[in-house]
Amino acid sequence: MADLGAVFAPGRIGRLRLPHRIVMGAMHLGIEARDDGGTALAAFYAERARGGAGLMVTGGAAVEAAGSGGPAYGVLDDARFAERLRRVAGEVHQAGGLIALQLFHAGRYAPAGNSPLAPSAVYSRFSRCTPRAMTDAEVRGTVEAFARGAALAAELGFDAVEVMGSEGYLIDQFLSPLTNLRDDDWGGDSARRCRFGVEVTRAVREACELAVIVRFSGRDLMAGGTEPAQVHSFAWALAAAGADALNVGVGWHEAAVPSVQAMVPAGVWAPVAAEIKAVLTAAGFGALPVIAGNRLNRLEQAAEVLAGTRSSTRPDFVSMARPFLADPQLVEAGRRGRPVNVCLACNQACIDRSLVDAEVSCMVNPRAGREAATALVRTSTVRRIAVVGGGPAGLQAARRAALAGHRVELYEASDAVGGQFRLARRVPGKADYGATIDYFAAELDRLGVQVHLERPLGPADAGLLRDYDAVIVASGVLPRPLEIPGTELPHVLSYPEAFADGALAGRVVIIGGGGVAADLAQLAGRGTSPLTEAERFRREHRLIAGPVPLSRPAEVTVLHRGPRLSTRTGRSVRWALLAELHRQGTRVLTGVRCREITDAGVQVTDADGRDRLVPADTVVIAVGQLADADVPALARQSGVWHRVVGGARDATGLDAVRAFAEGFAAAAELDAPDPGIDAGSRVLAGTGQREGWADD
Ligand code: SF4
Repeated sequence: MADLGAVFAPGRIGRLRLPHRIVMGAMHLGIEARDDGGTALAAFYAERARGGAGLMVTGGAAVEAAGSGGPAYGVLDDARFAERLRRVAGEVHQAGGLIALQLFHAGRYAPAGNSPLAPSAVYSRFSRCTPRAMTDAEVRGTVEAFARGAALAAELGFDAVEVMGSEGYLIDQFLSPLTNLRDDDWGGDSARRCRFGVEVTRAVREACELAVIVRFSGRDLMAGGTEPAQVHSFAWALAAAGADALNVGVGWHEAAVPSVQAMVPAGVWAPVAAEIKAVLTAAGFGALPVIAGNRLNRLEQAAEVLAGTRSSTRPDFVSMARPFLADPQLVEAGRRGRPVNVCLACNQACIDRSLVDAEVSCMVNPRAGREAATALVRTSTVRRIAVVGGGPAGLQAARRAALAGHRVELYEASDAVGGQFRLARRVPGKADYGATIDYFAAELDRLGVQVHLERPLGPADAGLLRDYDAVIVASGVLPRPLEIPGTELPHVLSYPEAFADGALAGRVVIIGGGGVAADLAQLAGRGTSPLTEAERFRREHRLIAGPVPLSRPAEVTVLHRGPRLSTRTGRSVRWALLAELHRQGTRVLTGVRCREITDAGVQVTDADGRDRLVPADTVVIAVGQLADADVPALARQSGVWHRVVGGARDATGLDAVRAFAEGFAAAAELDAPDPGIDAGSRVLAGTGQREGWADD
């Protein structure tokens, strides 16, 4: 077991005594504006407090309406939102936790409907609008709004406030020469650009006796943005203005360097916080706690950062946000040495949803954000449940049913569980998908689920299914065949075959334009380097100078019949994925019709209507999936109550978020005293599966 001693050392922020060195970072959940009396919001935070989270920071609460991030944000002058927050603080305290209210102003990142305000009228490609430059009176009024927010936080029972000044929000916008073009008290030189953030910190400090954390950007990752020297001066000024801790963020939402995506090596930003700690120490503020964050998803990584094994100076705390969506028990599990459901940095159910004002959840933990509605109750009627298929949907269904107390058996056709995640874990940046498999396998073991490997179900198994009270079919997908001549040639691989070691070398042509094709293109074209992943990332993104020695075994071409690659990939990830493919030199031909595969390559008609050969040593077919139809038919034939979930129900786009959620929901149906199993008709309406395929 890893040494987590540095994590579990108590610490202090201001007058707060914290039980350990992990702070749960702010996450906008999309339920802040829900008018339910705070039920959902309080349940979310209280569950994490019970899981040992210690100090948690809420999602951003807008200090005034113009600074709201969108319709799903709460605004502090809304009395009903304030009452919801009061309930949050109360329930967190009852659960033994501590909570900070994040005081937020989006500035030019607010949506157009808010009539956004900012230091200067500089267009934002994040919000896709141009804000109006604030008047001097509006700037001063906004400082006061932060102070009012701090006073309200104290009145509502919070333990701390966090001033949100990173990721490119308003305080960052004042700090940066890119977005602050003023020449008055609030801009014109480095000192005046710092002033807004400092005044806000001072006003917040004076308005309450709570612990005051200020989050700011240690690096904005913006070309022409705030220089490190100015960041250091800003840190000193924040310390002098009364901050009790500095939380160091990295990267604006508009930055061209990815900061939180899976392709960003874990821990790569920790040196930024260590640097801030060093400059504070040198200036006599060494006692001021510094919080490191961004792209740390395991307690083991946090322990390394806190122990200073990655740097000569040590941050005092580590902020982790998304990992608490994936596993609300993160801290307690670490303390007890239990497996943790690791955050994959996929962003699919969290950041990408928050960007479209949808409610946030988590791919690997569909309960996230829905705690109040999905509380687990042990069943009073223990049933025998068969789960067919050990991919994401089946694993989730089996775990959920076993947690409720049912007797569960899982049938998996191959020699290991994991399904499509066994392929995904090979993709650069996605090794943690293997941790998800390990977590669920350990959970099934702990919960006594009997797992039958290498046990495909065939036509003779309807009788076997009749031995169960309910069947959850999660038998997954098959690669969709491509109906052109030449697919039987020896150098043509299906996409699962292409993930095998050494399968992709030479001139590799991938037919398809969805997420799997993009994953394979990354895998084939990434090449190997003697540098560490973090060092390679820093050099590739020119964060430090130096060559990237590289050997690339494959030259990759993607042939896609549609106009754009990987369109189902979320907004926070797709741009970074395309940039990565571009860096790797991947050739992408869109609007292409593949006519035939030959020994020499792929004969296509290109977007201009010309027939041509795309030479290839290896051709991979990744044109989508077909839902398995056989096991659903078997379940129907058995007459046993059943649900078909995940790819077996709908193969469109290989949606793992949906697969986990459907597995969970199907198992949760069995909580009902009589979900229909014991009624006259054993098969409920609505179980019909759809045989689909994805043209991705
Ligand atoms: Fe992490 Fe993905 Fe879950 Fe977000 S959806 S918390 S990135 S695993």
